[in-house]
Amino acid sequence: MSDNVRIVPDATCTFCGCVCDDMILTVDLEHKRITKSENACVLGKAWFKEHGVEDRPFALVEGREATTAEGVEAAAQILANARFPVIYGLSDTTCEAQRVAVAIADMIGGNLDTTTSVCHGPTGIAFQGGGESTASLGEIKNRADLVIFWGGNPAEAHPRLFTRYAVTAKGMYTPNGRKDRTIVLVDVRRTPSTPVADIFLQVKPRTDFEVLWALRALVKGRKVDPSIEQRTGISLAVLEDLVARMKRCRYGALLFGMGLTMNRGRHFNAGALLALATDLNEFTHFVAKPVRGHGNVTGADNVVSWQTGFPFGVNFSRGYPRFNPGEFTTVDLLARGDVDAALIIASDPASNFPQAAIEHLKRIPVISLDPKLTHTGQISRVAFTTATYGINVPGTVYRMDDVPITLRPAFDSPYPSDEQVLSAIRDRVRELLGGNRLPVGALPAAAAVS
Ligand code: SF4
Repeated sequence: MSDNVRIVPDATCTFCGCVCDDMILTVDLEHKRITKSENACVLGKAWFKEHGVEDRPFALVEGREATTAEGVEAAAQILANARFPVIYGLSDTTCEAQRVAVAIADMIGGNLDTTTSVCHGPTGIAFQGGGESTASLGEIKNRADLVIFWGGNPAEAHPRLFTRYAVTAKGMYTPNGRKDRTIVLVDVRRTPSTPVADIFLQVKPRTDFEVLWALRALVKGRKVDPSIEQRTGISLAVLEDLVARMKRCRYGALLFGMGLTMNRGRHFNAGALLALATDLNEFTHFVAKPVRGHGNVTGADNVVSWQTGFPFGVNFSRGYPRFNPGEFTTVDLLARGDVDAALIIASDPASNFPQAAIEHLKRIPVISLDPKLTHTGQISRVAFTTATYGINVPGTVYRMDDVPITLRPAFDSPYPSDEQVLSAIRDRVRELLGGNRLPVGALPAAAAVS
């Protein structure tokens, strides 16, 4: 083998929340790119192929090429002088970088939010209200004989969830893989995932809550009016059959996606599903897990929770963390025009937020960190080029089942990591603020007057 070729076993794909850690990567060290990614799905292969090292400036400050140090100075000035800055993104970077972002938000009395607020935020709210009967994906692989996918399309969004864990995978108590499992899919339309299912329930749009509540009632032996079919599209007989299967199974798993949480009912939907899993534990073992999108969005939830007590949408302007989705979530802050600066880490809100939020982003100074030049990078006053986590940067990420995984990078990048850039910004902001923990403008009015 040539000196310029390196094989990296047990590498991790951080493209989606499955965080598959069985990649075998072939690296062309001369051209700094991955030429082969064994075990990756089609999405993973594209991820590895697209993340070679590009020839880009280390930073752009007001559109001009700059060094990372110059970018850090400009970013620190913006944050130190902002009255109400927001820090957003964080689902595609390491836990180490996420931790520094929390420290900056705390120091400047700003707002901290992650992409969870636009995906499984409702699950985070529901979880706080009723808890979660949880499991690792390995446990589901080894034990689950009934798997119900609700409001998601893993065949296209998380391809290896089926093969590695939940459908065809062979486990300790599921030695025949697919033959040992009954697969149910609940969705408002047929998708490429539908053919995988033994039973497909096509619910009418915006009636997930009613279906879940009817299932809860049936599990508890209550009567359900047959008119449920007109309302939801699912007959009482089909619901009764599903309840019988759920009670009968040895180990059941409910895996749910954004079709449930970004829908009418939101956290009520997620809460109903989590409560259904809890109810079923009166009869058998049942677990429920959200299927997460970005590679380390689960890490973002964990890091923000362990540091602030809340998973996303956290505000530090009173000097202590407060949680209020709708008030402190980034789309809402931007759409209302509340914030006067934004630090965006490994995310591209300028390409996927509502127009009113994007318009406000264009009016305020934005600092962005990303390996690619994104739409957000293009409207940023300071745009850093950073190395890609998992491919160039070591660290920790959390799989969608809250299992932490250590990254094994493939090759070095000339660009700094998100953690390095954020640490430099944090240190410089601290210097600029002197002894003041918060910028004067961030103090509550009463405290500023007294
Ligand atoms: S399922 Fe997700 S983590 Fe696994 S290889 Fe595919 S894109 Fe990567």
